Order: sequence, then structure tokens, then C-alpha cells
Amino acid sequence: MLGPPGSGKGTQAHIISELYGVPVVTTGDMLRDAAARGTEHGLTAKGYMDRGELVPDEIVNAVVRERLSRPDVEKGFILDGFPRSKAQAEALDRILEERRLRLDHVVHVTLGDEEIVGRLSKRRSCPRCGAVYHLESKPPRRGLACDECGARLVQRDDDKPEVIRHRLEVYREKTRPLLDRYARMRIIREVPGDTPLEDLPGLLRSILG
Ligand code: AMP
Repeated sequence: MLGPPGSGKGTQAHIISELYGVPVVTTGDMLRDAAARGTEHGLTAKGYMDRGELVPDEIVNAVVRERLSRPDVEKGFILDGFPRSKAQAEALDRILEERRLRLDHVVHVTLGDEEIVGRLSKRRSCPRCGAVYHLESKPPRRGLACDECGARLVQRDDDKPEVIRHRLEVYREKTRPLLDRYARMRIIREVPGDTPLEDLPGLLRSILG
């Protein structure tokens, strides 16, 4: 999944996961989880995440390499939030080659900056199960409690306006250039980030086959 923060890549990744029965590998969730557990990598990562910077490639690549060594990815997997830089894309090529896996599709989720800032500043996330809400378009049913697990929803530190702007700059500078690389491989599938939720399963199925 490739696209700016807040474009809805995570939502689309979960729909694809349900449609095809394959796991989603979400580096943001894995790094937040490592930070919450207080591991050495997690604590280093947290400083970068809170500032809206990319976590160093060595840490993220190691996390992804370990995750892709587990047996549940053999029938397929969705990468959400990785790769985010040229060095990560190169590391991914190596990992895939070693494991005799390949990328079939790069789903590019598109959305304008104004819409992104509006979405992220009203986003609330579940720190326990990772469910994501929007105060207007997808509000939780009971106050600020997660519909799925009941934990109290929070605003991620990096969903505050000044950090959002920085994350967008980082996306433009470091991650967006990866589109050229995957365009050369002819595997980019564009999906508008404002596609109505109910239309996404049908659209994604028609695109991914
Ligand atoms: P996300 O939940 O995908 O928006 O990611 C939240 C934050 O986690 C990012 O702003 C980065 O600080 C960090 N992060 C997630 N994935 C990566 C990655 N592939 N490379 C570097 N940092 C990452």
C-alpha cells in the first residue's frame, strides 16, 4: 500500500485482507507496539514517530524481515506503511528474493493535502487493538470507547496538526519517489482515497483480480 498518511491505506489494507484472507503487515502498528512494550528498538523508534520522522531503516527493515519470515505470509501478505524510502525498497527487494516472494500489486491510494489534514486531525485510534475512527465520518458508538475492545480511544501524538504537516513533507520527499520505481515494474494500481467505504470491496476486487 503506498499513499500519504491519512489517505485510507490502512482501511483499504484491511478490506483486502478480508477479501483474500492474507495478513496485513503494518510497520506503524508494529513500531508502536514495540514502543509500548518498551523494547530497545521500540524506544528508539518512539522518538522519531512522535516527531513525524521516519524511523531509521535498519530498525524498520529488521522488523519487516522478521515478520516476513513467519509462515503465515507464504500464501500472500499486504505491506502497509513499508517501504517508505529508497533504502527500504531495496531492502524489500532483497528480502523478497531470499524468500522467493514477489510483489504483485502496488495499491497507490491518492488524496489531496487538505482532506488529509482534516481526516488525521479528527482521527482517533485504539491503543489496544489498533481500530481507527473518525469523529465525524466514523464515530465510535459509545463515547470515546473502542467498539471492538472497549479501550479508551486516543489521538496519536503524531496526528496533531504541526506533526501532520511534517509527515506530509516526509512523504513527498522520501516515499512518493518510490512510485516511479513501481511504475517501471507496471504494478501500480491507483485507488482514490475518497472512494465510499461500501464501494471499496468491489473496486479492490476488480483491480486486484
Ligand atoms: P503510520 O502509522 O504508517 O502513519 O506510521 C507512523 C509512524 O511510524 C511514521 O510517521 C514513522 O515515524 C513510523 N514508521 C512507520 N512505518 C515506517 C517505515 N516503513 N519507515 C520508517 N518509519 C516508519
